[in-house]
Amino acid sequence: MKRKKKHLRRLFANHLWVPLFAFVVVAILTAFTIILFADFITSYITSTKISSGCASATYLAKMIDRYDTDEWMHEEGEEEYTYVLTDISGNIIRQSGTNTCSYVGGKVDSGTQTDNFAIYSDNVYDFITVDEENDVSIDYLGLLNYSDDSSLENNEEYDELLTDSSAGMSTFFGNNTKAIRLPYWISLELPESRLLLVKQYYLLTFGDLFFILGIVGLLALLAFAVLIVMIVNLVNSILRQRNTLKLFFTDISTKGHNWLWFQFNCEKVLQKRKNAGRTFAMVDLVLLNYNIYCICHSTSAGEAMLERINDELGKMLDKNELYAHNTSSSFAVLMNADDKELLSTRLREIIGKLGSLNPEHRFAFQAGVDIIGPDESSTFFHTRPGIDIDSIYSNACAARDTLSKSDEAGFAFFDEKLVEDKRWIDTVSDNQRKALEGNEFVVYYQPKYDPVTGELKGAEALIRWQTPEHGLIPPGRFIPIFEKNGFITEIDHYMIEHVAADQKRWLDEGYKCVPVSVNVSRAHFIEADLAEQIRDMVDKAGAPRELIEIELTESAFFDDQKQIIATIKQLKEYGFSVSMDDFGSGYSSLNSLKDMPLDVLKLDAEFFRGEKDKRSEIVVSEAIKLAQRLDMKTVAEGVEEKEQVDFLASLSCDMIQGYYFAKPMPVADFEERLKSGLA
Ligand code: C2E
Ligand code: CA
Ligand code: CA
Repeated sequence: MKRKKKHLRRLFANHLWVPLFAFVVVAILTAFTIILFADFITSYITSTKISSGCASATYLAKMIDRYDTDEWMHEEGEEEYTYVLTDISGNIIRQSGTNTCSYVGGKVDSGTQTDNFAIYSDNVYDFITVDEENDVSIDYLGLLNYSDDSSLENNEEYDELLTDSSAGMSTFFGNNTKAIRLPYWISLELPESRLLLVKQYYLLTFGDLFFILGIVGLLALLAFAVLIVMIVNLVNSILRQRNTLKLFFTDISTKGHNWLWFQFNCEKVLQKRKNAGRTFAMVDLVLLNYNIYCICHSTSAGEAMLERINDELGKMLDKNELYAHNTSSSFAVLMNADDKELLSTRLREIIGKLGSLNPEHRFAFQAGVDIIGPDESSTFFHTRPGIDIDSIYSNACAARDTLSKSDEAGFAFFDEKLVEDKRWIDTVSDNQRKALEGNEFVVYYQPKYDPVTGELKGAEALIRWQTPEHGLIPPGRFIPIFEKNGFITEIDHYMIEHVAADQKRWLDEGYKCVPVSVNVSRAHFIEADLAEQIRDMVDKAGAPRELIEIELTESAFFDDQKQIIATIKQLKEYGFSVSMDDFGSGYSSLNSLKDMPLDVLKLDAEFFRGEKDKRSEIVVSEAIKLAQRLDMKTVAEGVEEKEQVDFLASLSCDMIQGYYFAKPMPVADFEERLKSGLA
């Protein structure tokens, strides 16, 4: 069950995370590449630009150093440059060479200098210009802030100078190549712990700007293209997943939803927080005799009918109610059941309407209902924890099963008795293997006597389960369960082995042995090598084959006839005798008697139940005559009255197996009977 659930979850899990994850990864990678590339471009441009500013600043630092040492004007080879040193008021303090800076006196508008010096230079870049009013403006190399104070590093003014962008930043779009002027500061250390602060301008030309913008634009375009491809891919995956899911959820016969869809959505509805306090009904709705309809018409007509039923069902249900075609002619429905009266009315209506869907063919529907009550154990995040749709639906099916004996339309609710039954089925199934290994199954023997002489002629081996918890359990309570879950084949083996072993022991101990019949389930008869299996088991135990009789229940003769005939013939060839059990209990097939070389006919106990009546006496006597003419022995089962014994004796019935002579008994008691040989 858990594995199935896990599988379901995996199926419905959103696999979109794969393309989504890829999408995110590619988006991050693209963004990263753009940033890296933009960074590279800008740092390349910046470093080339700033390096020239740094060269100027270094040059200036050298110059000031020389000024201090009275050398700066006399540097050889540098006469072609002019250096102008002014005080704070702009008065020239010193000047080197010819003043090619065009600095001719007056106040220098240097903007940001403090109470130190300002130096101007016309280096190769020719960065000082003077306008008509003799005002000096500095294009490239700006302020020199020269200070003696080595503690400037933590000085507020110094910091301010560094950060104050209004101090000298001027941005303008102007003549030819200049586009943006951004100030920056270079700090250089001079001897004697002095600091030189140089303000420089970083110039971005339109060319630079276009280049950067172009590159960024190109990258953005690329990223956009990648994103578009990814989005298209993502949408495609979503659509594909939707289609796959739709296919998975579609029922082939009805074109509606299938059981898988129903299970998944049922769980979702029942686990919704707002539904925690509500009552629902799980319904197993079955169209009876669908197979006959298909045979009379055709399979495709049958499927068309199912499709119509599915459509009609949808029309009769509320929006939040679910329905789906399950197997063959059964539909699973989840209905609101807050009002049980209303639910019954609606079920009656649904069964009625669906029943008259086809005017030429009256349909009968049966429904089993399991009520899912409000959930008291709900938590805030999770309601109806551990809900098992499979088991709720199987409850509904169990309720429906109670109606299966009749062909009448109707519905039944799953109740406590069914819960008990279900619990018992689980207990039996859970303990069967442990019981087999622990020898909890015991063989009882019911003797068969001659009605005339009262002589012991045979016995039937009947199983009992000696449980530690429930005491001795009769076979009626567990054999049908084993027949359903398949464990019956192991039980049959167990019984044959034990009976053969007992026969062998009795022979060894000198008892006068009689044939003992063992029941073999019809489920066992589909095994092609069943006769060989029985032969080997009996031979292994060392018992004579003629002391073992195989009982086959009448209903088995409706199964694969060929297989059964082959197995019976094989068994007889090996020396076993074969009997037909419960003859007359079901739909007796006289044909079976014709085709099968059986040794014994066991008349069903039902013939001897209730009041004595002439008609059943006729049937019994004719059945015995028929068996005798077919050279078969007859055994009457369930005989409790002396009168019945006498009647059977008068008909020359060979053996009687009934409470009149003996009930099934433990092996020790049966051994006593073997000893005396008489009833
Ligand atoms: P069955 O094979 O028809 O066995 C006869 C049943 O009728 C036995 O019930 C027996 O106790 C009961 N019976 C016999 N005489 C009378 C009588 O005079 N009055 C009444 N009221 N009942 C009588 P039991 O032992 O409870 O077995 C029930 C069924 O369980 C068997 O019906 C058989 O179908 C199945 N069964 C029992 N043992 C085995 C087994 O070892 N293997 C298989 N496959 N089925 C078994
Ligand atoms: Ca039997
Ligand atoms: Ca029987």
